[in-house]
Amino acid sequence: MTNGRNKFPAIGGLLERRCLGFVIRISLRYSELVPAQRIQQLSPSLVNRIAAGEVIERPAAVVKELVENAIDAGATQIHVDVEDGGRELIRVIDNGNGIDPADLPLAFASHATSKLVTDEDLFAIHTMGFRGEALASIGSVSHSRILSRVPGQNAGYEIFNKGGSISIPQAAAGNAGTVVEVRNLFFNTPARRKFIKGAPTEYGHISEMILRLSLPYPNVAFNLTHNGRNTLSLPKTSVEERLLSAWPDDFRDSRLAIDCRDAEIRLRGIIGLPELARPTAKYQFLYLNGRHIRDKFIQHALREAFRGLTEPGRYPAAVLMLEIPAQDVDVNVHPTKTEVRFRDGGRIHGLVLSGIREKLLGSDLTPAAVPIRVDSTADSRPDMREQLASFFRQGPVKQDGPSASDPQPPTSNGQIPDIASPAPIQNSTSGVQRLPLAFPPSAAIQLHNSYLVAQSDDGMIIIDQHALHERIMYEELLARVTRGPLEAQRLLIPHVVPASSRQIALLEPIRPLLERLGIEVAPFGPDSVAVQSFPSFLEKLDPGEFVTDLLERGEQELLDLHGEELLHEILDMMSCKAAVKAGDPLTPAEIEALLARRELVERSSNCPHGRPTTLRLSLKDLDKQFKRTGF
Ligand code: ADP
Ligand code: MG
Repeated sequence: MTNGRNKFPAIGGLLERRCLGFVIRISLRYSELVPAQRIQQLSPSLVNRIAAGEVIERPAAVVKELVENAIDAGATQIHVDVEDGGRELIRVIDNGNGIDPADLPLAFASHATSKLVTDEDLFAIHTMGFRGEALASIGSVSHSRILSRVPGQNAGYEIFNKGGSISIPQAAAGNAGTVVEVRNLFFNTPARRKFIKGAPTEYGHISEMILRLSLPYPNVAFNLTHNGRNTLSLPKTSVEERLLSAWPDDFRDSRLAIDCRDAEIRLRGIIGLPELARPTAKYQFLYLNGRHIRDKFIQHALREAFRGLTEPGRYPAAVLMLEIPAQDVDVNVHPTKTEVRFRDGGRIHGLVLSGIREKLLGSDLTPAAVPIRVDSTADSRPDMREQLASFFRQGPVKQDGPSASDPQPPTSNGQIPDIASPAPIQNSTSGVQRLPLAFPPSAAIQLHNSYLVAQSDDGMIIIDQHALHERIMYEELLARVTRGPLEAQRLLIPHVVPASSRQIALLEPIRPLLERLGIEVAPFGPDSVAVQSFPSFLEKLDPGEFVTDLLERGEQELLDLHGEELLHEILDMMSCKAAVKAGDPLTPAEIEALLARRELVERSSNCPHGRPTTLRLSLKDLDKQFKRTGF
């Protein structure tokens, strides 16, 4: 069986997957002739360039490493100058504790750090850096210079590194603290240099990076100049003001402050009202012990907390800072340290989810009818901020106001059971605030059989009757199903509907959940299913049609969902179908019942799909729109 082709099966196989025809044969002959290469230790300069490949992706990565070093050095002022998007020059000046002249050559050596003293220190990291690699890497791919003076010493010293060749430290004049200059980045790694984008793009990454690094350090002033022009200035300020610099100014009045903890973990930050959610995660910033991180698990908790308040595919605005005992987290997972591993991820997920959800449920989330304008250009943000800073210096944080006086549900007139009949559930969260209606709810009027308009304490509200009813049904169903299975009606004649074999297979695992919801459905032959019972409150719907819809959606979207998520999706479907529709005329009693129940359910500001149920138009907005301001 042996032939030239499989004499070296391992090598042959490898090449066969990678190459085509002619090339394979040549490679195999070659591999028969050439002896194995000997293993050699890589030269330090090559080691550093390889490390640089991992850590220094672009100019902004250099800025990250240098600014992190300045923060670790206890600086209170960090000044960054860049030229040509960082391609010509990156200079970081700090007023930190400096580098001892004797240590200067070590600063450029690889695996040399002042931040780990014992082996155990690796398991309780309190600094941004600890790998001792950044300066060595940067020095190996640029022309760099460090000038440093330890406060209290009367002379400063400088040292140069030209692509790995390091000078002897020399005395030089300088202020207390450290200046690191990086010129001609990637001059000796042309492939990497080619990937650097134009100056505006690289500058954009740098200013984003500085903003991101600055958020947990309000006591540190940050400044950025580009080609000699001051482009970003973040003076020393309060914790919350600094967090707010992450967002456009227009978001400022639509935020909620978060501060919660368990015995060891603390979560602080700000979240935007659901209306601020955006199609990208641009306004989400997550920090762990002062370090910016990306973490799918925590993002998931955030998304879950906003479930039903934002539309699918939208990302809530949030700046969250977690403080966790250093030994409970491993930051040594990724060279740039943006990914971390938690010892008890579930606990952190739980704290983020419950802390944010409770805050949301306890707040008025009704969006303004006059939409919030987003100034999205990153470059204009700092300038705008400067102009407006004086106006907003002490911008109010939305507080949980006193809870609305407990409204009693009106007596049902029994005309439309959909709206008036289900027993109102008591609000489990204290302090929930709704926009209080100033007039009895019956004063609301219906427009075009679709919208309800009512006066509120500070203006008026406009309600989408379908969306609100849908949310009410959803919350009531959820409360009921938590208490026990939904009341079901056994069908005298089962409804038989066609179903594909894939749909029948899909049905099997979700049958127990459906039974909890009052739907009994079983396979009926090879290509149909029979609905045997159906929830009483859905009596207006055709059970067969509902199950067909469910199976079709199941095939497309629900397959990956389990447990709670699936339950929410099905409840969502039920409430959407059972709720009054746009175009349904309502009697005054029905309007009254709907508005009264609005006061009693949680998350009434948005329908289960996250669209708003209610818009508010304050007198202030009206005055502004009618140009009555200033009178
Ligand atoms: P790491 O930050 O992981 O220790 P770096 O290569 O970034 O590694 O820096 C090496 C060492 O140089 C640091 O441990 C620190 O002692 C010193 N150093 C770097 N930058 C500064 C600075 N701005 N101020 C004071 N010391 C610094
Ligand atoms: Mg460092």
